[in-house]
Amino acid sequence: MSVKLTDLVTYINEMLQPEMFKDYCPNGLQVEGGGDVSTIVSGVTASQALIDKAVEMKADVLLVHHGFFWRGEDSCITKIKKRRIKALLENDISLLAYHLPLDAHPSVGNNAQLAEKLGIRIASGLELDNPRSVGNFGCFDESITADELVQRIDTALGRKPLLIAGGDHVIQNIAWCTGGAQGYIDKAIALGADAYISGEISESTVHTAREAGIHYFAAGHHATERYGVQALGECLEQEFGVKHHFVEISNPA
Ligand SMILES: [Zn+2]
Repeated sequence: MSVKLTDLVTYINEMLQPEMFKDYCPNGLQVEGGGDVSTIVSGVTASQALIDKAVEMKADVLLVHHGFFWRGEDSCITKIKKRRIKALLENDISLLAYHLPLDAHPSVGNNAQLAEKLGIRIASGLELDNPRSVGNFGCFDESITADELVQRIDTALGRKPLLIAGGDHVIQNIAWCTGGAQGYIDKAIALGADAYISGEISESTVHTAREAGIHYFAAGHHATERYGVQALGECLEQEFGVKHHFVEISNPA
């Protein structure tokens, strides 16, 4: 089975509505390959290692969360970026990248997927003033200790999170935002969350957590953002009958 690249892109854009987001990169088709798609390879970041796997697996589309052309970066196509783009173009592979729209989507999004993995019920967005909030607020059906949540995250993501305890309280309400969202801890505090999960941590996050009395879990940028592209890829497989393979390029950060 195959689908036209244009139809595939239209379908995903209608689903994720990238035009509704102010993002740091273009969302959608970043590099154009062949017109027909029968194999999609997905992964978190369009690194050379992932591109090499896509070439090896004869992908027509590489679907990622972290693509190219970030705001503020050197826009010249040299060195690392040249090698990556050359490999894609030489092998007729399209690069499809979705950043914030894939964090925020209510079913295939990274945050929705993380909630499902951890058994959290979603109550609202983390940004209450934003209908397309990146990050969420919700609760566990039964309260859980911070150490139990460490275990649960380790089991679900295959990576032990770093816990900064904010006291000895149990966790009922929780906020989370995948990736480099440590700065959103202030939003979690404002919502009265017992705990906050994000991917990365900063030096200052430790003091904020301790002083505000909120448990903070740094669960890994890569580890928390593996599930959106997988869910989206599976959805495309079902919709169009194309093949989809997620490739894990391990990353401790
Ligand atoms: Zn990210």
